[in-house]
Amino acid sequence: MSDSAEPLLAVRDLSVAFATDGGELVAVDGVSFSIRRGEVVGLVGESGCGKSVTAMTIPRLVPMPPGRVLGGQVEFLGRDLLAMPVADLRQLRGAEIGVVFQEPMTALSPLHRIGQQMVETIRLHEKVSSRAAWERGVQWLAKVGIPDPAERMLAYPFELSGGMRQRAMIAMAMILGPSLLIADEPTTALDVTIQAQVLDLMREMRGAETGMLLITHDMGVIWEMCDRVLVMYASRLVEDAPAREIFSRPLHPYTEALLKSMPVLSLGKERLPTIPGQVPPLDALPPGCNFADRCPYVMDRCRAASPRFRETEPGRRCACFLRENQAGEA
Ligand code: SF4
Repeated sequence: MSDSAEPLLAVRDLSVAFATDGGELVAVDGVSFSIRRGEVVGLVGESGCGKSVTAMTIPRLVPMPPGRVLGGQVEFLGRDLLAMPVADLRQLRGAEIGVVFQEPMTALSPLHRIGQQMVETIRLHEKVSSRAAWERGVQWLAKVGIPDPAERMLAYPFELSGGMRQRAMIAMAMILGPSLLIADEPTTALDVTIQAQVLDLMREMRGAETGMLLITHDMGVIWEMCDRVLVMYASRLVEDAPAREIFSRPLHPYTEALLKSMPVLSLGKERLPTIPGQVPPLDALPPGCNFADRCPYVMDRCRAASPRFRETEPGRRCACFLRENQAGEA
């Protein structure tokens, strides 16, 4: 990993809302984090907690409207992506920011052959001949483990299996050597064997200087892949820690509950513990701490005010009143 002090990506106080029939709902509330070159940062939490909206706001892939950025900055390589003209942003997407979606058909056109799509991606950003781009496409399909790559270049996406499509999308996301790779649940739709292969592939293919934001609800994937973990709950970040530390010593009660419900850590028990209750809907968040209704340590004050997300010890941030003393506060 590079020691460069300058983050590759710095998200500052980002808030995003969506217009609904019942009014505007805040899906991402004051989220701040950074990613350094070469660092793999996991963003974890249950469905509906705001992970994907956070991640997809970075390359501005959230449709606006109905979405709306309420505030904040997304600084990438020193430029604010949220303030950047769309034409400049298009140049960055693909070339400098690669995106891998859960469902490959989100990124692949069903109407065009894989090869055509790869050639277009390359030629949109680089002045190379179609032939050279085609050859590079063949090489990349081979690199991501697709057999008979020259033949597969002629295939339509629907002619490939789910695992092969995911590999093709990873090749397309990485073919231009992006500095930042955003992967949104890249293995959730795949069976367990293919999942492991795709994770291995992403680890191998990623350049040493490429930063990665990996969205997942699976702590096992975090364990396998990440240097650092951000835990999100009901639109807010609640914990930020080095991956190895979070597994041995989670600070937030929600992180603790996520880890207890992880199969590999619960071997030998008859039933896996689950987190009681559900993530509250955005239009019915409890007063005070968003986790209060499910927290085994809830106190009166948790229902009166929201804990701030702040550094509780070097390299770790947490939003919980239980951790206030560690931050040196009363
Ligand atoms: Fe639980 Fe209170 Fe901490 Fe929220 S602030 S996680 S309710 S102890």
